[in-house]
Amino acid sequence: MLFAAEPLAPTLDSARRVLKQYYGYDTFRPMQEDIIQNILGGQDTVVLMPTGGGKSICFQVPAVVREGVCVVVSPLIALMKDQVEALKANGIQAAYINSSIGSSEQNNIAADCLNGYLKLLYVSPEKLLSEGFMTFLKRVKLSMFAIDEAHCISSWGHDFRPEYTQLRVLREQFPQVPIIALTATADRLTQRDIQQQLRLREPRVFLSSFDRPNLNLIVRPGQDRINGILEFLERHQGEAGIIYCLSRKQCETLTQKIQAKGIKAGYYHAGLTPNQRGAVQEAFLKDDVQVIVATIAFGMGIDKSNVRWVIHYNLPKNIEGYYQEIGRAGRDGSPATAVLFYSFGDVMSLRDMLTKENPSLTQLNLTKLERMQQFAEAASCRRKILLNYFGETLTQDCGNCDICRNPPTTFDGTELAQKALSAVVRGREKLSINLLIDVLRGMRNQAVLSAGLDQIKTYGAGRDLPYLDWYSYIHQMLNDGLLYIAYEEGYALKITDLGRQVLQGQRPVSMKKFQPAEKAEKAPRGRKAQSAPAAAPATREAQLFEALRTLRKRIADEQGVPPYVIFTDSTLQEMAVERPVNRTAMLAISGVGMKKFETYGEAFIREVLAHGGNPAALDEDEDAAPLAGLDPDDPGAPRAPRKREVNTEAGGTIDTTYQLHRLGLSVEAIAERRALAVSTVQTHLTNCYAKGLDLRIEEFLKPEELAEIQTAQAQLGGSPMLRDLFDHLREKYDYFKLRLALMYFKKLRGE
Ligand code: ADP
Ligand code: ZN
Repeated sequence: MLFAAEPLAPTLDSARRVLKQYYGYDTFRPMQEDIIQNILGGQDTVVLMPTGGGKSICFQVPAVVREGVCVVVSPLIALMKDQVEALKANGIQAAYINSSIGSSEQNNIAADCLNGYLKLLYVSPEKLLSEGFMTFLKRVKLSMFAIDEAHCISSWGHDFRPEYTQLRVLREQFPQVPIIALTATADRLTQRDIQQQLRLREPRVFLSSFDRPNLNLIVRPGQDRINGILEFLERHQGEAGIIYCLSRKQCETLTQKIQAKGIKAGYYHAGLTPNQRGAVQEAFLKDDVQVIVATIAFGMGIDKSNVRWVIHYNLPKNIEGYYQEIGRAGRDGSPATAVLFYSFGDVMSLRDMLTKENPSLTQLNLTKLERMQQFAEAASCRRKILLNYFGETLTQDCGNCDICRNPPTTFDGTELAQKALSAVVRGREKLSINLLIDVLRGMRNQAVLSAGLDQIKTYGAGRDLPYLDWYSYIHQMLNDGLLYIAYEEGYALKITDLGRQVLQGQRPVSMKKFQPAEKAEKAPRGRKAQSAPAAAPATREAQLFEALRTLRKRIADEQGVPPYVIFTDSTLQEMAVERPVNRTAMLAISGVGMKKFETYGEAFIREVLAHGGNPAALDEDEDAAPLAGLDPDDPGAPRAPRKREVNTEAGGTIDTTYQLHRLGLSVEAIAERRALAVSTVQTHLTNCYAKGLDLRIEEFLKPEELAEIQTAQAQLGGSPMLRDLFDHLREKYDYFKLRLALMYFKKLRGE
């Protein structure tokens, strides 16, 4: 057998080899390495990492390296099955036992545990705690316990599971076996509960950053959401995504509308039978259904790494829930989008709901809702606000949210505000937001006419502005404290003292120009024009990517597994860029381990060849004959596929960096993907720029930064040395930015 269970030394070095051989990854993510080192030393460990951060590898790799079986406690049957399938696809021996497994199969699994064949055994908490199972475990050599979704132990959390509180018996019954607890929930109470209830012994706690830089955060006004969603789907053809709604009814109607456009969609809510739900989930995992419209009941069991977008049809109740839900997009690290539709109406219905729901928690819940609302209405970097909520600070704006991409422009809104305030006063402070807009725009509907509002002086005074613009400006006035809402009076708008000062011309108002929805999602200004000349190769890549996806889907269906278990989207993307046509090149792709190479390598290489292959690879490589090295009897141990990266200045590797940049990856993401230093990637990009290729400059330098550097350059006169510029700007910009900026100015001057 290929993967004979030769004993591995429990060192970080073996762990790295396991990562490459079984997972096909070159490096651990920063925190993974520390965590694994701690676990290998046999210490209790708590891992707090956001969804998609890479928790699984933290216990799976030590499980392979350490002697014995790792028992993984996991609350959801679907999740267990997926993880075990993914492990097996990588060539790691794993199994799961829960209520869905028959007794003869359970016996086989038990035998595999006893003879040391299995490295990981997934169980539900109920099964684990059953008497017979505990007795059985005593006979097995155990490497450790991994408690997945460990926040389920805390009654403070939103996923409390009473069975989890029984897990303390593990420490009593198996005092020698280390325990590792993993969760994506980071609050203090939950953390404390995990440590106490599991009786952890001086555990080391690893709290990783909750930032998910690959998620593009967008908030759009809630009007006309259905069309907004349908347009979004048109721009994101074939990409898997989840839409969260509040009600079952909404789920069903929206699903029908999406299906009517010929898109494969399914709905998922608590009103379905378990079988129905299982079927919908399975279809989504297998890419048979592209879109799931769901209430919050959907998601915790979803391990699908290629969800490309998440849409919130309604405002979520709090930021915790919102962040968890958007975290289901882009787990593979490739760019993904989160769109939130926001309307003030949602805030009102949520307020009503929360007030009735749980009286003792009303105040807390309303405060959380307010923070959510502030996020939705913010006019500054959204990621900063999110991370701030979780106690992290981001020193720079993120560049990957709607606000950063299209910073709002401000204008003198005094006259606009006066029109609205005047209508509020003349309507005797009884108008709701919608009625106020109708009055300003001179609408002749029942509500306006029956209240005689067409008679007031400001009727129709704001005819020239569309509804959405007014909607935005009135919200800004609410946020600025010119108006407030009397919830107890049918949500009537009232004027404040500050508002009166504005109305009387004593105080000017600055407003942010309303941005139409599509603009928010588009790339920053100028990006399109810049990358236009290079459009042709992108199509070539996209074509190969599509072909590889189709192949993946066919194989997945044949084998009855979800497609992402075969290769993730990012692995296919890298194949589409690199076009590997031999063993070395294929093994160098991130996500292609030995087992996957043996199983799928040939099929994917053939597909690449059918699309022209990579001629450069044919010239360069010693074993470059297409398909060379595919012989399954090849006795060679996995060769470290480093060759490609050694000569970092060779044209091929710079090209690859450039292609990944054009695919939208950040410098850090490219560096991680290619196992290169960030500075190397920066050098690649600077070289490309110098050669005349276009870069997404705005990703590295904001207009105001460019302006500042330009001023500094002028102050120093002529063409200053980088060092001088660096000092002059008090080390605010690194050399990469400075170099790019100087080249940019040169290009602008046409030099
Ligand atoms: P979590 O359980 O924290 O939500 P996963 O363990 O599912 O996250 O990992 C998310 C994705 O990141 C998976 O596709 C996984 O294969 C990938 N991944 C994890 N660690 C690494 C690594 N060191 N290098 C490259 N990809 C990784
Ligand atoms: Zn931002």
